[in-house]
Amino acid sequence: MVNYIIVTGGVISGLGKGITTASIGKILQIHGYKVTAMKIDPYINCDAGTLRPTEHGEVWVTEDGGEIDQDLGHYERFLDIDILKYHNITTGQVYGAVIEKERKGKYLGKTVQPIPHVTDEIKRRIRRPANEAKYDFVLVEIGGTVGDYENVLFLEAVRQMKHEGDHMIYVHVTYVPVLETVGEAKTKPTQHSVKLLREIGIQADFIVARTEKPLDNVRKEKISLFCNVHEEDVISDSNVENVYGVTLLFEEQELCKKILRKLHLRKDEHDLKAWKNFLTKIKKLDKKIKVGIVGKYFDIGDYKLSDSYISVIEAVKHAAWNNNVSPEIEWIDSKLFEKQPEKISNLDNVDGIIVPGGFGLSGIEGKIETIKYARENNIPYLGLCLGMQLAVVEYARNVCGLKNANSTEIDKDTPYAVIDFIPEQVKILRESRYGASMRLGSYPAILTKGTLIHELYGKNTVHERHRHRYEVSPEYIEKLEKQGLLFSGRSPDGVLMEFMELPDHPYFVATQAHPEFKSRPMKPSPMFDGLIKATKKKEKMSPRVISSVA
Ligand code: GLN
Repeated sequence: MVNYIIVTGGVISGLGKGITTASIGKILQIHGYKVTAMKIDPYINCDAGTLRPTEHGEVWVTEDGGEIDQDLGHYERFLDIDILKYHNITTGQVYGAVIEKERKGKYLGKTVQPIPHVTDEIKRRIRRPANEAKYDFVLVEIGGTVGDYENVLFLEAVRQMKHEGDHMIYVHVTYVPVLETVGEAKTKPTQHSVKLLREIGIQADFIVARTEKPLDNVRKEKISLFCNVHEEDVISDSNVENVYGVTLLFEEQELCKKILRKLHLRKDEHDLKAWKNFLTKIKKLDKKIKVGIVGKYFDIGDYKLSDSYISVIEAVKHAAWNNNVSPEIEWIDSKLFEKQPEKISNLDNVDGIIVPGGFGLSGIEGKIETIKYARENNIPYLGLCLGMQLAVVEYARNVCGLKNANSTEIDKDTPYAVIDFIPEQVKILRESRYGASMRLGSYPAILTKGTLIHELYGKNTVHERHRHRYEVSPEYIEKLEKQGLLFSGRSPDGVLMEFMELPDHPYFVATQAHPEFKSRPMKPSPMFDGLIKATKKKEKMSPRVISSVA
């Protein structure tokens, strides 16, 4: 029998419900249970594909090509499992399905209403993972904050599920602010938020209180009394250095044991040792390496910026930890090099450079200059999707002499369209299936033996996730390769260029895919791992320029 853990949030958004959900999942998994997780997003978009990164954070891509909220990324990283796109439920999907059924006459003349028809559709979707596979636990995070209009029907649906006999635990994540002037942690917002939850008919089993410092007993007692939970079920979720450490915070407070007790489950044998050792190791790392991420989603301040590239940051961390160094990330806005070209030498201060994925025109020339600098100065370089496309553009322009070569995404009239729609995709676009024109999800690539990429992955066939429209144009492959650029991985039919490298450079690799999505805390992505290894060796490298026509 599956057990559901419903995670709701109160007081403010951005409390880290995703991390709380992933951490609870992780400790249950360590206790020997089979766990998966789902995310409910109350917005009307059917998926996160059309959301702006600076507004919503990164778009996470699943194996089966879902474009999902970044919380699914936390679940996959913590739990080290693949989660498919139907594990994300949005208002748009639910209403879309209900309206479609209504039009098809599936409700047999009934008045179609939010309750029960919309809530039935929500419940059907929440129960789907456990109907398709055997799970001990399905964690369900409900986005937004209690009191929002838009998540009411989702809360109503999970209330009904318990009423209908599903095994449920409700975890409510709230915020306990400290008023600086009074110097006291305030529980009133939590009390109000729990009150709102009770009005909906949900009694929280656990309150996870986000605080700066560990919650004291006085506050716990107060929350317990006003919120109708046992004092021991008020869990302090104070700031930690590293998000993966939240698991230990919960384990110290025996959250797992308490959840199992409420569900009358046996506490299985468990071994936290490997996870604990990993967390202790990364705490102690003092040698730092600096990776420059040259991006452009900088517009809404630092917080949003890091959210836009969260999987890239996590992948850098995983790789650094694997190499016993502590990562330091430097944000570099590529537009800076367009306005002040002399600033390009700032790149000498970083040990390695990443140009991550991106869409649209702004900051492109700055990124191309960055790539040129990395290539000519032997700075370890990793290009991700757009970062590979622009590496090809840069090479075409500056080594192959194809002046003004470009991607047609950036310059439709370029004389040398080295990055372009390939005919198959143009066909999809012509049929005006705009939303379907992306190459999304996991695709296989065949790696060439003897290349650096093959050595990094250590196998002939790899699968990485994609999210892009453009490809290296087959027309220019021969020309580029003749001049020393090596496409070291291709699609099985040989048409699509999936990986490239520069054999004359200490570490210059790029891929059309997004390997950051498959990086896990104790299993770094091979290309990121290679980047960190190369940065460690950097001191020994001497600058060497490949034949440049520029
Ligand atoms: N904009 C490019 C494309 O659509 C790259 C996308 C990306 O970096 N994910 O092909």
